[in-house]
Amino acid sequence: MSFESLGLSESLVRAVRDQGYSEPTPIQAQAIPMVLSGRDLMAGAQTGTGKTAGFTLPTLQRLQSGAPRRDARGRPAIRALILTPTRELAAQVEESVRLYGKYLSLTSMVMFGGVGMGPQIDRLRKGVDILVATPGRLLDHHQQGTLDLSQVEIFVLDEADRMLDMGFIHDIKKVLAIVPKQKQSLLFSATFSDDIKALAERLLNQPQLIEV
Ligand code: AMP
Repeated sequence: MSFESLGLSESLVRAVRDQGYSEPTPIQAQAIPMVLSGRDLMAGAQTGTGKTAGFTLPTLQRLQSGAPRRDARGRPAIRALILTPTRELAAQVEESVRLYGKYLSLTSMVMFGGVGMGPQIDRLRKGVDILVATPGRLLDHHQQGTLDLSQVEIFVLDEADRMLDMGFIHDIKKVLAIVPKQKQSLLFSATFSDDIKALAERLLNQPQLIEV
């Protein structure tokens, strides 16, 4: 099994090869073609399975091959939103977005609490295609009017079970209310409690299921 055979573009395959990966992990082999097809996805995967590349690679490809979007001021609009439970994970995921997207022309940003809003506002003003964020700070920006999520096409909840354990359910529901209803949604979780299933029911539209 090769990355090419999953339908990834040459630029993404080259970036993956630079990382020294010889073949896709099981979650990547299943998730990448599904995400490329545009379907919603519910994936059961622990950390260490390669899940991050499983959603970042096809997300990058879908954005790169789709028409660029601009906000009212002509800057790139946020087209992919990835929510993570912690700052550390947000930073790691954005690092992956940069690594895998290094031969593409998409821009990304990481946003979390505990640091000043000012530099984040400055960065947002320049325009961002892919935003990786923790829920609380994301909502802070939205309330202040410094964040426009009206053009989001792909929405990813990473480590959804940890997010619920950390008490983020209300924040997640608020985020769902400010992103477009029509979008592709991907939910990654190590476990499938009733709460996760209820969230999936609310978020996902005829999802494909993967468990590794
Ligand atoms: P994750 O589960 O996304 O946190 O990834 C765990 C680790 O696996 C990361 O350090 C990745 O760099 C690495 N990794 C991801 N995909 C592959 C692959 N196809 N082959 C080898 N290592 C990989």
